[in-house]
Amino acid sequence: MRVLLAEDDELLGSGLKAGLQQQGFLVDWVRDGVAAQRELLTAVYQASVLDLGLPRQDGMQCLTAVRRQKITTPILILTARDGVADRIAGLDAGADDYLAKPVDLLELAARLRALVRRAHGVSEPTLEAGALRLDPASRQVWLGGQQVELSLREYEVLQIFMLNAGRVLTRAQIEQHLYQWGTEVSSNTVEVHIYNLRKKLRSDVIETLRGVGYLLPRQVKAQADLQQQGKS
Ligand code: CA
Repeated sequence: MRVLLAEDDELLGSGLKAGLQQQGFLVDWVRDGVAAQRELLTAVYQASVLDLGLPRQDGMQCLTAVRRQKITTPILILTARDGVADRIAGLDAGADDYLAKPVDLLELAARLRALVRRAHGVSEPTLEAGALRLDPASRQVWLGGQQVELSLREYEVLQIFMLNAGRVLTRAQIEQHLYQWGTEVSSNTVEVHIYNLRKKLRSDVIETLRGVGYLLPRQVKAQADLQQQGKS
């Protein structure tokens, strides 16, 4: 999951970035409100962590501007421990959640996962597409009850597919979710990950729509169902 972190405090920012990365997030970090607004308007993020006290433009102004542009990215605001008024104002201005400083990293990660889930209309903590199941908290994947070992990037690609099950994704859309700033993207990376996912899961789990993109069906069949189909 690619998230935008807006925090001007160097120590807190680097701690949050490292901690979230350890929890499996890809993190782009900006240090002022103008940059935060620019990124939220132009790039694809699955969620954002927004400090309210930011230079150049405060978090509240950024939030208001972004929501006015109909950007629906889930936004979690960071507030001072005694900032009840800030929390109320932030939630009313379009924030989806808040955390008071000092931030507990595991709680932040769990709240971000919940926000992303809700943004995709998923209420269960695990993502399911028929026989395929993914647990964002433990980063584990099962097909038909059988656990499948995936690399971090393969897991990321699969998660994007599962959050968008039944929808066609272009290669560019998948790429946008996969990289934080400063990482090199070679042109066939997405294809390689999809190739590996098909090998580890099953070739029909991700369909190719020539010239359009890729699709993970809403109802991935279990191996047993496929064999049953073959017989009848
Ligand atoms: Ca600050």
